Amino acid sequence: MTPELDIRNVIILGSGPAGYTAALYASRAGLEPLIIDGGVGSGQGLQGQGGQLTITTEVENYPGFPDGIMGPELMLRMREQVARFGAEFVEELATGLDLTVSPFTVAVGDDAYRCKALIVATGASARWLGLDAERPVWEGGLGGAGVSACATCDGALPVFRGKEVAVVGGGDTAAEEALYLTHFASKVIIVHRRDQLRASAIMQRRLQENPKIDYLWNKVITAIDDPAERKVTAIQLKDTLTGETSRRPVAGVFMAIGHRPNSDLVRDWVELDAAGYIRTHHDVRTTRRGVFACGDVQDTEYRQAISAAGSGCMAAIQAERYLAALEAGAEVDW
Ligand code: NDP
Repeated sequence: MTPELDIRNVIILGSGPAGYTAALYASRAGLEPLIIDGGVGSGQGLQGQGGQLTITTEVENYPGFPDGIMGPELMLRMREQVARFGAEFVEELATGLDLTVSPFTVAVGDDAYRCKALIVATGASARWLGLDAERPVWEGGLGGAGVSACATCDGALPVFRGKEVAVVGGGDTAAEEALYLTHFASKVIIVHRRDQLRASAIMQRRLQENPKIDYLWNKVITAIDDPAERKVTAIQLKDTLTGETSRRPVAGVFMAIGHRPNSDLVRDWVELDAAGYIRTHHDVRTTRRGVFACGDVQDTEYRQAISAAGSGCMAAIQAERYLAALEAGAEVDW
């Protein structure tokens, strides 16, 4: 077991906008945080250093960058800013937790780290269909070259302007993404595996009122063309009722088949909602005293880089106050 002297004030799990912002505030408050950053990701939407923004292209809705900034570059800048204030990094995935009593223990392989307060900022991962084309361009797929899981991040790119694009899924995310894309695309085709959307009534009404929205019902995508051209040219489809196959030319494919919060590690320690998101109160407090959560792992609504950064700030400020109260021997209100 790590000796008492090695007990950290705060450990942060995750290095997306929420984790880095929490680290920035915690380090500037003199808490000397340790960030377990997830290591190098797989590039398939699985979490690694920098989180989901590292698999997007241009980010145009993060304030302070009037000309936009590439997602990976933004995350690198956040990391450099955090490092400047002395935060330490462990470039690995956390593999286990013991949050029975404070100080808490975080396992990273055979190593263990201890802390008085824990900030969970492990984010969420977009669900993908598992097609070859979804792999990033450098792995021989098309991800980043017309295949995306974030219309808000990528929808305004020139490659989609005035073109027909497809959105996969039938829920509220698919509806939102499709409506957003109508600002840029000439037509947005919703590809759904059934003949009924599960999106809320209000979203369905908005879709119906929009003349740019079209549907391909009872269809699944079996392949995306054309990796050889390094761009999206068409989707290959299969009818879920008849098995009939077809092909539809499109310039982009947006996956909107849901997100999965990366909460497996904390599942036994804090309360999650039915979809696996960490339940929080007072914005960022989990059901376990001393454990805070911020960003997409607890955000069922906004899921934006800037809202994640904002909640990372809240988690660090609340952790600082919690630690100050502990230090003073005061009753910690939770
Ligand atoms: P959902 O789980 O609601 O919808 C996912 C959609 O993807 C479903 O239509 C599902 O089909 C389809 N799907 C899932 N897996 C596959 C697959 N392998 N192949 C093809 N299609 C697939 O996820 P959302 O992200 O849309 O929403 C998550 C939650 O967040 C919901 O509670 C939603 O209401 C909420 N939300 C609310 C918003 C708002 O209020 N503005 C905006 C965005 C989300 P099927 O229907 O057949 O299961």
